[in-house]
Amino acid sequence: MTKFKRILLKLSGESLQGQQGYGIDQQRLSDYAVQIKEIAQQGVQIGIVIGGGNIFRGLSGAASGLDRVKGDQMGMLATVINSLALGSALTSIGVKARVMTAVRMEPIGEFYNKWVAIEAMERGEIVIMSCGTGQPYFTTDTGSSLRGIEIEADVMLKGTRVDGIYTADPEKDPTATKFDDISYNEVLQRGLRVMDITAIAMCKENNLPIYVFNMDKLGNLKRVINGEPIGTYVHP
Ligand code: UDP
Repeated sequence: MTKFKRILLKLSGESLQGQQGYGIDQQRLSDYAVQIKEIAQQGVQIGIVIGGGNIFRGLSGAASGLDRVKGDQMGMLATVINSLALGSALTSIGVKARVMTAVRMEPIGEFYNKWVAIEAMERGEIVIMSCGTGQPYFTTDTGSSLRGIEIEADVMLKGTRVDGIYTADPEKDPTATKFDDISYNEVLQRGLRVMDITAIAMCKENNLPIYVFNMDKLGNLKRVINGEPIGTYVHP
């Protein structure tokens, strides 16, 4: 028995760049696909939201003089590129996957629809939901909170490159310690930068627990699904 029946997996665009510093690292992409296949074979229903920071971020565009809304639209398109890459990596190893878009752009992806997504997941297909929320000034973390709530996921699994939530950034502060579990309120009160406030608030208001773990270590996704306590659980 797996710990969760239906999950929303949030993958960071930045992690997808691997060691390259930009774009899509083929090895990382394939590692993700293999890990996802493993849990799909256990019968877990999987919805995925992926970021776009490895290609473009609206805020960086705005900092260099671009219109913020246009920059965010470019960022949303970056999430579509990553979603197509992941979908194609899954298909190439025999896993059925489809890409949905929050902004109409058939035939690149089909327009997002909650019920179509759920039906596909119930048939064992993986649904990758791109463009985040489809609106500027939001992030893909908020997009994954929204989609996780909509598709009635048991949990949002936030795959990162650190082992969980720490008292401070473990990549900068060696004295930082990890939480095994923490409440939404404490995350907000301590100002922990695990996800943006909008994303945490949505999960809190709609009771979607979040599990933060290191997705860059092979086999970790399966460990989380099988209930091994390797990351940080965020709960009411
Ligand atoms: N974005 C947006 N609306 C959304 C989600 C994303 O406008 O609902 C844009 C925004 O510009 C963001 C970019 O897409 O900077 C990439 O997403 P994000 O930064 O969340 O990706 P990550 O940092 O996880 O790679």
